[in-house]
Amino acid sequence: MPSVLIVGAGFGGLAAAIELRRHGLTDVRILEKADGYGGTWRHNTYPGAACDVPSHLYSFSFSQRKDWERLCPTQPDILRYQREVVAEHGLEPIIETGTHVSACRWDERQRRWAVETSRSERTADVVIVATGQLHQPATPRLEGDFAGHSFHSAGWDHGYDLRGKRVAVVGTGASAVQFVPPVVEQAAHTTVFQRTGNWFVPRRNRAYPAVYRWMIRHVPGFQALRRRSWFWIGEGLTTAIRHPRTLGRVYGAYSWLFMRRQLHGHPELRERIWPDYTFGCKRVLFSSTFLPTLARDDVEVVTEPIERLAPEGIVTRDGRTHAADCIIYGTGFRTTAFMFPMEITGAGGRSLKQAWAAGAHAHLGITVPGFPSLYLVYGPNTNTSGGSIITYEEAQVGYIRQAIELQRDRGGPLSVRADVEATFDRETQGRFAGTAWTACDSWYRDETGRIVTNWPGYMREYIELTRRLDPREFEPV
Ligand code: NAP
Repeated sequence: MPSVLIVGAGFGGLAAAIELRRHGLTDVRILEKADGYGGTWRHNTYPGAACDVPSHLYSFSFSQRKDWERLCPTQPDILRYQREVVAEHGLEPIIETGTHVSACRWDERQRRWAVETSRSERTADVVIVATGQLHQPATPRLEGDFAGHSFHSAGWDHGYDLRGKRVAVVGTGASAVQFVPPVVEQAAHTTVFQRTGNWFVPRRNRAYPAVYRWMIRHVPGFQALRRRSWFWIGEGLTTAIRHPRTLGRVYGAYSWLFMRRQLHGHPELRERIWPDYTFGCKRVLFSSTFLPTLARDDVEVVTEPIERLAPEGIVTRDGRTHAADCIIYGTGFRTTAFMFPMEITGAGGRSLKQAWAAGAHAHLGITVPGFPSLYLVYGPNTNTSGGSIITYEEAQVGYIRQAIELQRDRGGPLSVRADVEATFDRETQGRFAGTAWTACDSWYRDETGRIVTNWPGYMREYIELTRRLDPREFEPV
C-alpha cells in the first residue's frame, strides 16, 4: 500500500485525503504549516471576506449542505463547512499542523520521497502538493519608510482599531472590493489607490428569504438543480471570456450598464477608474457595494501611480503626499510562485525550478515528467475564471487516486511521459489564442507573459479529461 504525504490542508489537501481514504488508500497524512486546516480561508479573515462563487457550487459534491443562509458563503461559513467535512470524514487525526515542508527530494535508491519538514525528515511513496495558488501574500517593495501601521489583507490585524483613522488601501482586486466597504464604515477617511480598473457585475448576497431556504431543504431536487444551474452560469462566463468578440461583448455591455448605474452622478470618478481592457481579461469582480463606496465624500480614489512611502503616508508620482495612519495592502498573492520556495528535486537531481525555468507546466496541471509519484492539486493552468475551483480539485484528486492505484498495481513508481506532457502543454497554451485572457496583463501570467495559472477552457472539459487516467501515458521509473 503506497504511503502518501499531502502538503497543505486547504480544500485541495482535504479533498485528496478524502478521495484516497474512500478508495482504501489509508496510509495518508496531511502536513500543514499553519496551526489549523482551512488554507486560504483560514488566513483571509479580513472584514467582508466571503466567496463570490455560490455555496452550492463552492462546496464538495459529496458533502452538500442545505442550510446555507445566502447565495455566497462568508469566510466563517466556509470555515464551519470545512470543520464539518473534516469531522464527517474523520480527518482530524491525520492532519499534522504546525509542520512546514521545506523540501521534497526524490531518493533514487529508495525510490520514494524524502520530505524535510520543520519537525522531522519524513519519507513517502507519494507526495501530493496541495499548496494552491493563493497562499503567499504579495506586498510591493516600495521605497521609503512609513511611520504608521500596515498589514496585508491576508494577514489582517484584528487588534488594530481602524475607527477614526486615516486609512490608505493599495489595490482594488477581489479582496479589496470586499474589505473596502466595511473599512470605510469605520475609518475617518479612506484613500484607495487603484492601479488598473476592473469590470464589475452585481452581487448583493442578501440572506435568502425564509421560503427559499425552506424550498432548498424540502423540495426534492431543488438543491441539485441550483448547483447544476450555477455550474452552467459559470460555464457561460467562461464562454464570454473565450469569445470576447461575440458573447464577451454582451457580458461587457451588461457590466458597462451596471457600472454606469452604480457611478451615476460621478462622471469624473467614473472616467478615472474605468477599465481600459477587454471584459474578462482580469478577474471580473462581483460587488454591488464597492463602486458606490468609492463615490462617498470620506473616500478618495487615487489613480496616480505610487512612487514611494514617506513617514506620514504614500507619495504619488505627482509629488502629492497622501497622509495615512494605516496602510492596508490588498495587493494579492505570488500566484506564479506556486509551492516555491519549497525545494522539489526529482529524478536525476533535477529541481522543479529548473524544469519550470521557462514557466510552470504540468500534465493536466497535475503531474510533471521526471518527478515520479509527485502530484499537484490546483497546479499550473488549473485556475478558473468562471467556475468553482473545488470542481477542478475534485477532478484532480480523482485522477491522482487512479495514478496511485496504477503505481500500486504495477508495483513501482511511475512518471508521466515527457511527450504526453509537452503535447498537453502546447495544446493548453494554444487554446488561449483569441481569448480575453490574452488582452491585458494579469496575475494569470508569469514574468515572460505566459499564462501559467489559468485553465483556458470549461469545467466540463477538465472533468472529462481527468475522468479516466490513461495508463499508456505513464512509464516506470
Ligand atoms: P489581486 O486580484 O491580485 O489584486 C491585487 C490588487 O493590488 C490589484 O488591484 C493590483 O493592481 C494591485 N496592486 C498589486 N501590486 C501593486 C502595486 N505595487 N502598486 C499598486 N497596486 C498594486 O489580489 P486579491 O484581491 O487578493 O485577489 C486575488 C485572488 O484571490 C482573486 O483574483 C481571486 O481569485 C481570489 N479571491 C477570491 C475571492 C472570492 O470571493 N472568491 C475573494 C478574494 C480573493 P493591478 O490590477 O494593476 O495589478
